[in-house]
Formats: sequence, structure tokens, C-alpha cells
Amino acid sequence: MPSLNELSLTDLRDLLARGECSSREVVEACLDRVDAVEAQVRAFLHLDREGALRQADAADAARRAGEASDRPLLGLPLGLKDVLAEQGQQLTCGSRILADFISPYDATVVERLRQAGAVLFGRLNMDEFAMGSSTENSAYFPTRNPWDLDRTPGGSSGGCAAAVAAAECPASIGSDTGGSVRQPAAFCGVVGLKPTYGRVSRYGLVAYASSLDQVGPVTRSVSDAALLLGVMAGHDSRDATSLPDPAPDYAAALDRGVRGLRIGLPREYRVGGLAPEVGGAVEAAVKVLADLGAEVREISLPHTEHSVAAYYIIAPAEASANLARFDGIRYGRREDGPDPVTLYARTRGSGFGREVKRRIVLGTYVLSSGYYDAYYLRAQKVRALIRRDFLRAFEEVDLILTPTTPTTAFRLGEKVDDPLQMYLMDVFTLACNLAGLCGISLPCGFSGSPRLPIGLQLLGPPLGETVLLQAAQAYQSATAWHRELPGLATAPGGSEPASG
Ligand code: GLN
Repeated sequence: MPSLNELSLTDLRDLLARGECSSREVVEACLDRVDAVEAQVRAFLHLDREGALRQADAADAARRAGEASDRPLLGLPLGLKDVLAEQGQQLTCGSRILADFISPYDATVVERLRQAGAVLFGRLNMDEFAMGSSTENSAYFPTRNPWDLDRTPGGSSGGCAAAVAAAECPASIGSDTGGSVRQPAAFCGVVGLKPTYGRVSRYGLVAYASSLDQVGPVTRSVSDAALLLGVMAGHDSRDATSLPDPAPDYAAALDRGVRGLRIGLPREYRVGGLAPEVGGAVEAAVKVLADLGAEVREISLPHTEHSVAAYYIIAPAEASANLARFDGIRYGRREDGPDPVTLYARTRGSGFGREVKRRIVLGTYVLSSGYYDAYYLRAQKVRALIRRDFLRAFEEVDLILTPTTPTTAFRLGEKVDDPLQMYLMDVFTLACNLAGLCGISLPCGFSGSPRLPIGLQLLGPPLGETVLLQAAQAYQSATAWHRELPGLATAPGGSEPASG
């Protein structure tokens, strides 16, 4: 029998509903697990122990008072990436420039999770301002992959994926601008969902690249991803890019299977850097889906090869504008100077890390007059072509299948000084954001030695989450990869508390 901290949200929800455990017991089990493994994993930037127990007791009281029926997450613990505003809690974005910043309000997503009864129990580590693919760009410390502590959990939502994989919490909420939910989910053997652009409100999500950012769940199962998306999705008048379409009942359609669904395999995704073990696991997954009745066919996405180039112009361009607000006057850290320019330079010079500075410089350059047409405008045109490829493909197929990442988790330190190698880790995930699609990563196998998780990516058309989740659920029901847990050594009572 797995312990409470190892169960999925839906399993915990059922146990709570039947009165077989209390929310306090669930939260205590998670906190005990944190005590046992967090010194090794380091997923949390801050753990709100007392707050979590207080929220759990309140949830148990609400359940006794008969208030559970319209609160689908009542008493269930969730971790939040430290980029989502949670009133009264730190909001560092993994950066020194916001080291002491406390959120004055809740993000819409956080408000909805609270209303649904979730217990918000900690702030998870990330690459600074969500720029990175390894969590090594966190200004505080890198998070480690629970499957191999010498390796990265991926990024930028590395803390989210590591905490779930290490069974420190059943699920977490991250953000995905170019793969930051799906890539760490793949590296850590858990599920990561990026909803369609506009499906989930960005109000209270600190902006990295506003035309690409989406909030998404990291979970142990597809049904948990459907549950969380159902709570978070829907129109929000405080986000002008929020879609008006009401959120369907994702959970209701989950078990419809894949019989007759057309799944496209893009010819162009057989890139040179694809590790044979990843390719093999993904091919085996295609066979599983075909055996379940899906129609698999080859498709072509000719402009996809330009995704990395286009993304690494557009995202830094938007970031350079978004990060202008951290000027030492309105938010966070201030390093004083005799005049405003010195104050800005000192504050931003000491507050931002290397990768963030690199992107601000790059983004400012591609937007500057004289270079705008050659870089930014061209990248936008390429983006339009990439989107058109996908929309055409979705006239022929219902979903598209690819690996999530070209390799399994790489070693900490291996790519951190080589930005291009790091950027190439996003080769399969970026197009989904550039084209405004929805996508999910699912565990689909393991490499041999060392034994590391492999992720399968399914992509759906804009607002195609229902079919996306349905196919993911069919795959997951036919396989057991998602049930495996890393064999982390535990240190009962002997660990350091999470820093905060
Ligand atoms: N790795 C990509 C980047 O560094 C994507 C990050 C993200 O999705 N936030 O920008």
C-alpha cells in the first residue's frame, strides 16, 4: 500500500470523500516526506509548514460542515512555482532582484485553486524568471533530479517536477513558455500539461514572454491534470488574452479511448540529436496507441526546424520589455546611487543573473531600430509559418506525437556554460507555444543505465485539451510507467529544513 504522499490527487480526493483519511494526515505525510528527502532534492524555495497545516485543518472542518461538494480540491496539497502571486507569500521568480518581495494579491489561478479548497504548501524552485531548462539558473540553488541526484530535473519548473517525482507533494502548478512544464515533467517521470494560450489566466503570473506564457499543472496522472485544468481554466476579465470559451468538463471525457483518433508523426522530428533510447521508447508508445485503435500517419511540419531560432529571438525580445519594470524603484531590491541611472545599473547589475542579462541584451538588440526588421520581424514571420504548418496538419490529424526532449536528464553543470546546447533541449517543446497549441508530456519508459525517465509529447490544436487528455489517458491506462517512483534514500529526522 503506497503511503498518502505517494497517491494521486484523484486517489486522495476519493479517500478524503470516504472519510478514510483527513487532509491533516495527507499534509503531514507530505511534510514528513519533505523532511526525509528535501535536503537531497531541494525542490522548495520556501515551505509554509504552519500555513499548510492550518489550511488542512480548515479543509477538514469544511468537509465536516458539508462544504465539500463544490470544492473539487478540498484538502489536497499543491506546490506553486515561485512565479505565481500568492498573497502574503514570497515571490522571488528564482531571482535575487525579488529576494524580499511578498505578493500583495493572489493570481487568478491561485484564487481559483483556493476556492476549490487546495492547501497551498510551498514555493517551488525555478530558473530565474523561468529562463532556462535545468533550474541551474535559479539564483538560490539548483534542484536535483530525484531519479539521479547528479542530474538536472529540467526547467524552468524543475522544482515543480522534482517535488512531485520525489512524492513531496501530489501535484504542483508551473508555467510553460517554451516547454518549462513539459520538459521537467519528462526528465522526472511525471505528467506536465501546457494548456492552449489564453485557456488559463495569466493574471498574477510574473511575465516572461507574454505571447507565449501559460500556467500548467505537473501531476502524477492524466486524470489529475484534467482535474487541475478544470479548476484553473476559464475566462478572466483581468487578463486581456484570456479566451471567452467556457471550460468543458475535462474529466468527463477522459475515458473515451483513442479508437479512430488520427495521430500524426512529424517527419521533421527525427532530428540528429535524438537519443536512440528516447526514439525507441517513443516508437513503442506509438505502437501502444495504434494497438488501442488510433490511426497513425506521417505528417510534415516543414518550418518546425526554425522553432529554436524564432523562439530565442521572440522570447528574449518580450522578456527585455517585461523585465524593464524591475528598476529598483517599484519592486524588490534597490541598490542606491547618486542618480537614477546609477541606481538602475547597480540594482539590475547585482539583481539579475547571467542568463537573464544575456536575454535582456539579446532582446533589446533584436528590437532596436536597424535590427528590428532583420531579427524580430523575421522571427514573427517564421512564427506565423510554424503556426500555419500546425493548423494545416490539424486538418488531417487530431493530435501530433513527438518525444518531449531529445535526451534524458543531463548532468548538472554539463550545459550551463553552453547556452546553445541548453537551448537545443527545447527543440520539441517550443513550437507548441509559438503556435498557441496545447501539449502534454507523459512518462513512456526509461533509459537503461542510468535508469532515467523518458517523456512522450502529445500536441493538440488550440482548445483541443479534451481530446489531448483523452488520448493521454488511454495511453496511461494501458501502461504503468507513471506508477514508478524513484528509489531515493531517505534521511528520517536527519535532514536540514528547506530554506526560505
Ligand atoms: N527553456 C526555455 C527557455 O529558457 C523555456 C522556458 C519556459 O518555458 N519558461 O526560455
